[in-house]
Amino acid sequence: SAMRDNRISKTKTVCTYCGVGCSFDVWTKGRDILKIDPQTEAPANGISTCIKGKFGWDYVNSEERLTKPLIRRGDEFHEATWDEALTLIKEKFTEIKSRDGAEALSFISSSKCTNEESYLMQKLGRAIIGTNNIDNCSRYCQSPATAGLFRTVGYGGDAGSIKDIEMASLVITIGSNTSESHPVLSTRVKSSHKLHGQKLVVADLRKHEMANRSDVFISPESGTDLIWLSAVTKHIIDRGWADETFITNRVNGFDEYIESLEKYTLAYAEEVTGVHKDRLIEIAEMIRDAETTSILWAMGVTQHLGGSDTSTAISNLLLVTGNYGRPGAGAYPLRGHNNVQGASDFGSMPDKMPGYEPVHDEQVRAKYEAAWGVPLPEKPGLNNHEMVEAIHDGKLKSMYLKGEDMGIVDSNINHVHGAFEKLEFFVVQDIFLTQTAKFADVVLPASPSLEKDGTFTNTERRIQRIYQAIDPLGDSKPDWEIIREVANRLGADWSYTHPGEIMEEAADLATLFAGVSYDRLKGYESLQWPVMPDGKDTPVLFMEEFPFEDGKARLYPVEWTEPVRYDDEYDLHVNNGRLLEHFHEGNMTYQSVGITRKTPKAFVEVSPELAKERSLSDGTLVRLKSPYGSVKIECLVTDRVRNKEIYIPLNDNNEAAVNFLTSSYSDKDTDTPAYKEVKVKMEILKEK
Ligand code: SF4
Repeated sequence: SAMRDNRISKTKTVCTYCGVGCSFDVWTKGRDILKIDPQTEAPANGISTCIKGKFGWDYVNSEERLTKPLIRRGDEFHEATWDEALTLIKEKFTEIKSRDGAEALSFISSSKCTNEESYLMQKLGRAIIGTNNIDNCSRYCQSPATAGLFRTVGYGGDAGSIKDIEMASLVITIGSNTSESHPVLSTRVKSSHKLHGQKLVVADLRKHEMANRSDVFISPESGTDLIWLSAVTKHIIDRGWADETFITNRVNGFDEYIESLEKYTLAYAEEVTGVHKDRLIEIAEMIRDAETTSILWAMGVTQHLGGSDTSTAISNLLLVTGNYGRPGAGAYPLRGHNNVQGASDFGSMPDKMPGYEPVHDEQVRAKYEAAWGVPLPEKPGLNNHEMVEAIHDGKLKSMYLKGEDMGIVDSNINHVHGAFEKLEFFVVQDIFLTQTAKFADVVLPASPSLEKDGTFTNTERRIQRIYQAIDPLGDSKPDWEIIREVANRLGADWSYTHPGEIMEEAADLATLFAGVSYDRLKGYESLQWPVMPDGKDTPVLFMEEFPFEDGKARLYPVEWTEPVRYDDEYDLHVNNGRLLEHFHEGNMTYQSVGITRKTPKAFVEVSPELAKERSLSDGTLVRLKSPYGSVKIECLVTDRVRNKEIYIPLNDNNEAAVNFLTSSYSDKDTDTPAYKEVKVKMEILKEK
């Protein structure tokens, strides 16, 4: 608008770079982003941000932004009008559905998009097409944490707020490089540790920054966390340090659970994990002595064959020690994307409607059928992992994917690319021509967060407003508008004129969000779910009861699943994770000149031992080969890793993408790829 062109305006927004959910004012003049201006009333961060939140916004005005729909003709894309693109989508969706049935179509929502957009995507799949084939990329990271929490405590979210973690007497992080992946949250832990006597235990394969600051650092063998966690829990019970009052009043299944722990002795744990039993005893004593314990975990736990079970073991430990239902205590699965919590919360899941209400439940379906005026499919749909296989099997013909570079971030991407090539009709909606979009038949130009209204939900279940600061670039449109147009072409009469109306509908239907409304989310105001009809929200979960029929939590016995290790041929183990400077595959952060100058490309961290054995030094170019693919990459020698453990930042959207190496193995309960279980061999290409 003309007003926006001439005047400096200040607009409240939420950072798009991680699940901490920092919010701040953005100052703009026309399309120029002048500065990021944090405010004291921001609930998750106050006046702090990290490098990405402060400087990572160049992508909004990048030359590479998509500004027009594209349609493939042969090997080339041609610019098209919205009308042409939407007409083609309507024709192909209709043709495939009438020939092969609704189950031949699938939908991928985005953890970068808003809650309202996730809600509309699942509504499009379910109500307009008639399939539950809908998923989002939480399947790539925290689904196992959600599964572990659902089994034990009934809600798949952080037990309290970020400020409660600050109050904990003891913080334990497992498989989380917190300083780089959740920077502002880590700052809070660091200051509590330094100034207020908070104790810190870190368990990780890598000796990262938080490990260096911790009181106790353990580095269990990859994929063995369940074992030391169970051994610590058993030791606590054996010594009589369990919280018996809490267990009696609030927890089911203690006796069976004790039996299941029998084999997890300290000696067994030491043998398998490589962690000396004295360290485990020390951790057990620290939990005993702590008034409150919070356990934070991330993808080092979840991205394994047994990711859900290890997450369950964490929750079991917290239950046994009475560490739920009090500020400062509880489970904190740290969410990666800005809205990875919300994408699942708002129903972009093959088996869950918004608010985690199961699709197989007749009453749930009846409620939505009445509201939407159509019959809904009963059978749970395919998750994104199953979709790839169904495409290879010829059963799935079409995919509509938004805001997700699945061809880089899924595991075993050579296999995924093969699937994309087999799709009869592939629609990709994004702000850039991503590696995934290159396989599309139609590419739709979307608008990023600064160009639209909506809400995001951060790691602490906090729903926060974003406000439009600048106009959509070129012909790009907010995702919710595009989905509305697609639905209406297919015969719907969706009349949403603002995301607030979409939220109103979702809040009417999903009990978890009953009291959510844009009136209650003005400016920096926010709500943490569950939100009661009167607007009362829930900063700390489980104060009174757990959301099961009898109000009690459940101890859930789990068994260890042996991880994939290196062998004689593939003799190194690859770990991967985030870098502070980049977001995910880097599509957005590589657009920032400042950030890219600092960290231009991916590298592989090798240990001093391995460097000596193979004569590697900084800059040595190597080829890493797994059974599934290979990458060329330069070495960085560091004592953050040890022996045959090597580490690649996941932030590369090109030839060094770690997912050329990863396999299609996945967590047995949720199908989350076992990204952390990769074996490779190394060949030296060029010495430095
Ligand atoms: Fe953004 Fe996360 Fe950094 Fe906060 S900590 S500014 S949400 S990337």
